Amino acid sequence: MRIPKAAELLAERLQDDIVSGRLRSGDALPSEARLMAAVGVGRPGVREAQRILESKGLLRMARGARGGAIVTHPTFRVVARSASLWLQYHGATLRDVYDTRTVLESAAAERSAESGHSDAVAALKVVAEAEHTALSDQTRWFELGLTFHHRLIAVANLRTLSVLSEMLMEVTEAQVRRRRGEIAPLAWQERAPTVTKSHSKIARLIESGDGQRARDFWRLHMDLAGAIFFDAEADETVSDFFDAQRAAELAQESTSTPKAAELVADQLRRQIVHGTLPQDHMLPPELQLAESFNVGRPALREALRILESESLIVVERGSRGGARIRTPVASATAESLGIMLQLGRTTVGDVYETRLLYERAAVRGLAGRLAPEHHRSLRLSAEAGAALVNDPERWASHAISFHQRLVELRGLVTLSYLSGLVHVVLDRHWAARVLPPRLRPEALHPASVQRLHMKLVAALDGGDADSLEALWGGHLENIHSQIVTAGDADTPLDFMRT
Ligand SMILES: [Zn+2]
Ligand SMILES: [Zn+2]
Repeated sequence: MRIPKAAELLAERLQDDIVSGRLRSGDALPSEARLMAAVGVGRPGVREAQRILESKGLLRMARGARGGAIVTHPTFRVVARSASLWLQYHGATLRDVYDTRTVLESAAAERSAESGHSDAVAALKVVAEAEHTALSDQTRWFELGLTFHHRLIAVANLRTLSVLSEMLMEVTEAQVRRRRGEIAPLAWQERAPTVTKSHSKIARLIESGDGQRARDFWRLHMDLAGAIFFDAEADETVSDFFDAQRAAELAQESTSTPKAAELVADQLRRQIVHGTLPQDHMLPPELQLAESFNVGRPALREALRILESESLIVVERGSRGGARIRTPVASATAESLGIMLQLGRTTVGDVYETRLLYERAAVRGLAGRLAPEHHRSLRLSAEAGAALVNDPERWASHAISFHQRLVELRGLVTLSYLSGLVHVVLDRHWAARVLPPRLRPEALHPASVQRLHMKLVAALDGGDADSLEALWGGHLENIHSQIVTAGDADTPLDFMRT
């Protein structure tokens, strides 16, 4: 067993207290002595539980007289960190992450135009105006530009869409900042005014309420901005999120982690995400590892604990024990994503609306681009559904995998990954509500949904982007109205069994 069961249970219980708001950000955790007495765990178990929570960004250890374990809420960085490990391991390119951002941001622009609040649009215009006055100050102009993109997503007023977009921005941010310094002054002087003008223009388009024009315009803008920042290295894989500079930043932020341990963890992590250390590989014994990294045993142990908290190793006890390599899995990210969404009181309707936006965009993007063999495999997948319409439990999971397959065919690793995360989050919500698959939104009315899925497959053979979008958008809106009818749309996402 990886971690003493009692420690895991205690961590889970405390996590529930934090996510439900019984423990608030800034609160001190009950003392070790009280926790030990309350749950019958020894001191090592309490410490282990604290460490698990710390790795999830739910706790920070304060030093000094008023020190102790303080409750915090995770930042986007926690989710981004976990996502970037997966993306690196699966060889996602910077271009792929950026193109997925484009899908999400242009969907945000469209929705903002259709339902954005005027206050939020006004706030967007304030930033665009500030950009015009900052054209002579590259640093300030650049930061304002980033702020603009953050605000644009916020106007759409969907929490799930925000979290996913912010997570991707965090993944690409290090690269964008690095590239900023490399842009030749002349190129910058030429391009900056164009970029700024298009920020003003999107604000006007959103205000005018023309969703489709806003979406199409923003896609062009993203292409233009992408050309400035990523042209030369677009085909590179997501470069190390944990470069030396990042490790130093982390060491400064977290007072409890010695720098040597972070650096050792950094080197091992690199070897895992680059595949040098494969799945199930056993690391050498501690003493040998400590020697090879030229660090003491406490630092090495700390490094192993960091990697364990990131689900990149499993420490097995016993005579034949040791640290076994685990390659990055999506479920680790889904866990942190779920925590963020629950803490933000994200509603079920919000998650489904976000799914609607990117799925519809993905299907639109398939027009005229689906290779014959992919079309065939999609047809086979849809046809398999016909045999399941009278078996609601299996039908439900078939329906979800059909939706997932559609997104995958769009050809963006990052978008497929996000779609998978969203499906895990929804599954955990419905599972905690003890709602059997046959009663979930995807599973209702199997026969008519099956016909619709088949209709989409047919339309993908030569159909234009607008008709595909209308067809799939209509289907997703139907699912959404079922959630509204069932009274679930405004229910906060909740993984805790009630
Ligand atoms: Zn921009
Ligand atoms: Zn469907």
